[in-house]
Amino acid sequence: MNTRVGLYIHIPFCRQKCLYCDFYSVLYSESLADSYVSVILKELQGLNQDFPSIYIGGGTPSILSPDLLDKLLSGLKKFITPGMEFTIEVNPESVDSEKLKLFLDKGVNRISIGVQSFDDKKLKVLGRIHSAKQAAQAIELSKESGFKNVSIDMIFGVAGENLKAWQSELEEATGCSCQHISCYCLSYEKDTPLFRMRKKSIILLDDDAMAEMYKYTMSYLPGAGFEHYEVSNFAEPGFECRHNLNYWDNNSYVGLGPSAVSYIDGARSENIRDTEEYIDRYEKDVSIIVYKEELSALKMAKETAGVKIRVKQGIDYKWFKNKTYFDFEDIMEKGVLDELLKDNLLEYKIDKATREKRGIMLTEKGFLFSDTVSSAFL
Ligand code: SF4
Repeated sequence: MNTRVGLYIHIPFCRQKCLYCDFYSVLYSESLADSYVSVILKELQGLNQDFPSIYIGGGTPSILSPDLLDKLLSGLKKFITPGMEFTIEVNPESVDSEKLKLFLDKGVNRISIGVQSFDDKKLKVLGRIHSAKQAAQAIELSKESGFKNVSIDMIFGVAGENLKAWQSELEEATGCSCQHISCYCLSYEKDTPLFRMRKKSIILLDDDAMAEMYKYTMSYLPGAGFEHYEVSNFAEPGFECRHNLNYWDNNSYVGLGPSAVSYIDGARSENIRDTEEYIDRYEKDVSIIVYKEELSALKMAKETAGVKIRVKQGIDYKWFKNKTYFDFEDIMEKGVLDELLKDNLLEYKIDKATREKRGIMLTEKGFLFSDTVSSAFL
């Protein structure tokens, strides 16, 4: 049984669609956003539980006007408890000191800034609408406003980029006094403009170049004080994202908003990916859920393995048994584990005192192929 439940609220609005993005969002309209926030507030009224973490993501939460942000955050007041983690995502072009002050006043204690790059050319290739200067200013402003837990998102592996350029971006990232850095390798998702351009006009980096950048990231960031704690995430000690650790423990979460997923004790549901329809259905008391699945105990255990292997410390067998009631090695398809070990993608965690196997984790090579390993567990 899961006891920790995170709350996620999706803000499905952006000023312009980035070329690589396949998250659900629509172009911002003040009146639509106003109706949307009203619906979310009503949904929040119906929730009565303690959340150890709240995460407002998107889309672009910071695109909302100060009035709408005030309304939304005021509706979350009853969930604020001492010591909880409360994150909001912002984009550099739409955050200012007025909004940052409001966030702090309303209990937000972690800010996640969509920097993506400190290079204007690269930002252009990605279709971002902010400049490198705005990104640096947003970080500075967050710190000046009083945020003590600042995270930045970065992307590597963009066409035209090389290792040297990525190295200097990482230097800039570690020099900006944030506490958490997420580094994502650019992926070409179907149905994005970048995916279509890949076929015609852009010269892609090869897999070796991408791997070199990722390997450099894994060695450089820990040396600069940012522990590698999950495939794409690095943090100063104590600043790991607790909301996301909850996902990787395969604990429960409630997701509000179009496209958001909820997962409560093995029942997964997904909301409709249409903001107007979401509002309309909610107002007419028609279900907003378009997909539902009840997971068997075995499937839950396999999914737990698939997500937990992403964290640096891997899967502890005792923890796994405690959580899923299965022995880890019993749920693996015959031969799969041996194959992954033989390919040097996984290694055992060995108990120092007894010399017995106490778990399993990704090797350095395994981090490069973490998706392959996760899928093999399912
Ligand atoms: S701002 Fe974020 S959510 Fe919006 S289009 Fe760009 S990447 Fe996607």
